[in-house]
Amino acid sequence: MQTNIESGTLYIVATPIGNLGDITQRALDVLSQVDIIACEDTRHTQKLLSAFSIQNKTISMHDHNERQRQDYIATLLKDGKSIALVSDAGTPLISDPGFHLVRHCRQEGLKVSPIPGACAAISALCSAGLPTDRFSFEGFLPSKSGARQATLSALAYEERTMIFYDAPRRAIDTVKDIVEVLGGERYVVLARELTKTFETIYSDTAENLLDWLSKDPNQLKGEMVLMIEGHKIDPNAISPKVVDTLKLLLKEIKPKTACAITADIYGVKKNALYDIALSLKS
Ligand code: SAM
Repeated sequence: MQTNIESGTLYIVATPIGNLGDITQRALDVLSQVDIIACEDTRHTQKLLSAFSIQNKTISMHDHNERQRQDYIATLLKDGKSIALVSDAGTPLISDPGFHLVRHCRQEGLKVSPIPGACAAISALCSAGLPTDRFSFEGFLPSKSGARQATLSALAYEERTMIFYDAPRRAIDTVKDIVEVLGGERYVVLARELTKTFETIYSDTAENLLDWLSKDPNQLKGEMVLMIEGHKIDPNAISPKVVDTLKLLLKEIKPKTACAITADIYGVKKNALYDIALSLKS
């Protein structure tokens, strides 16, 4: 079915994350018919266009010129031009440029239309065997270990499946930090080189993943998505929030009173808190 291109519309076009066979018919229709293609990297997109014998005008729109480009692109759209936005791979705006442009266009009342397709995060998630009913896309973790550990620490009690993009050169350090902050027993999945020849999806505890990566440097090549299973709630466990409150109260008042007040606030059994209070005190 041929896609009708509407004038004055910005199309957000997903492109393959490796295997060119994943391009969609609508993406090909839009890329060949729009007036201009705004690319994260024109040379990179040119290769994709050549592979499908598409000849069209391209302009650059990347992290460093997005703010200037957004006015130019909005003006072209107002003049009735149709424009496609693509990134180097996958879905634009997902850890890729385009957010400021799309927000600007929407604020200006211009039409923005998605042309869905590949996305590494979603491809990884749907083949990981981790809960998919609720998940949290976290993009790239910070490159420095201190900041990375702080980010992981803030996510320690996140119950949803967490999805991260990671650079292969940092993968071992990232997994080391996961072991340190979330514990070696946390279940993780590494999805590497999706849709490509060396596609590998490995799932195990963080400790075993670290061991596996350390023994096989080939697994540190290419592109990867790292997923962490969400924190599992033990119905018998006292939640970290309760322990934090107890800790604060113990600094000021006697254990018996601290336990009674905490139990009152959270509706938990007083007795269950005594042992925790004693171990915190000691
Ligand atoms: N917009 C893209 C998308 O929709 O997935 C993501 C762009 S982001 C700059 C690039 C990161 O996506 C890579 O560093 C890697 O973490 C992940 N990625 C991209 N292609 C991948 C692939 N074929 N296999 C695994 N991860 C991939």
